[in-house]
Amino acid sequence: MFCVQCGSEEKLYGHLCRKCLLSKELIMPPDRIVVEVCRTCGRVMDGSVWKNALPEDIAVKLLGAGTRKLGQVRSVRWSVPYLPPEKGEHRVMCTAVLTIEDDEISQEREVLIRIRPGCCTSCSRQSGDYYEAVIQLRIEGIAAKDALVELAEENVIVQRMAEEHSSSDEKAFITKQSLVKGGIDYYVGSLAMARAIAGKIRALTGASVLESPSLVGQKDGVDMYRNSILVKLPALREGDVVAYDKKVHVVEESDSKVTVLKNVSNGQIVRVRSDDPRMKPVSKFRDIREAVVVTHDKTTVQVLDPDSMAAVTLQKPPYLKRIGEHVQVVRYDGQLHAV
Ligand SMILES: [Zn+2]
Ligand SMILES: [Zn+2]
Repeated sequence: MFCVQCGSEEKLYGHLCRKCLLSKELIMPPDRIVVEVCRTCGRVMDGSVWKNALPEDIAVKLLGAGTRKLGQVRSVRWSVPYLPPEKGEHRVMCTAVLTIEDDEISQEREVLIRIRPGCCTSCSRQSGDYYEAVIQLRIEGIAAKDALVELAEENVIVQRMAEEHSSSDEKAFITKQSLVKGGIDYYVGSLAMARAIAGKIRALTGASVLESPSLVGQKDGVDMYRNSILVKLPALREGDVVAYDKKVHVVEESDSKVTVLKNVSNGQIVRVRSDDPRMKPVSKFRDIREAVVVTHDKTTVQVLDPDSMAAVTLQKPPYLKRIGEHVQVVRYDGQLHAV
């Protein structure tokens, strides 16, 4: 057997020797390819779906699909170097590795790659105020202006979960959030994500969750619903101070059903129903005062009343093992109590 073109008796690829084969145009990449990139979030169009992917990887796919090849070429593997993000056409030197028989031959080709800015489904829904659910995060007795401070931890959970879900759920965004009396409303693109967030907050805080659909109108003759998910945090939180049976207690934990209290004068723990009417709020954790310690012994601690600066002797809570320069105090029934 010899090469049909030059008569060489070297190893043949089909009917041609290597030299003659390489003199032919083995592959024909597309004249140009277009990579559509979301101008807001950077997602890239892959076929008909927006994906979190690198523009380079999508370019490789498009090149692979659009390249015509000579019969001897079994397969072509493209690699595309870094693509500049600016919109417009870029001449990019790409490498194709061709498999012919058992050999691999590498060829460089300049390809015209157009970066076209677009707006992905997620971003266009987001800018169009799309939402499937409203998470109503609530805690009793707070004003709208305090909501972000009071609910800081829960807010972090909401934002972090939206971030985490965004790689797998293109509706995982928060269209808007507003501070309202009693808490925060989150308008959420994905009902599935809204449910996941509510479930997480319930697991972490003992909140109660109540989901209800509300009719918001009709589209093409079909009723349209959006779901409200009420996430109600326990009114009492760890560290709050209450009076129970007219004695001062610190809240150890609380959910919508059960509250665990610690008596500050004897350290005893009691479990009560969260709606027990004998329990009255004394101080939120954040409102607990600090008082300067003058002296203390086994059972008492003398402090300066933070309001009058008079020295007063208080009963020392038995669970306070070490007394520093300050102790935390609350005022209940006109008297100061160390907690
Ligand atoms: Zn030849
Ligand atoms: Zn986007």
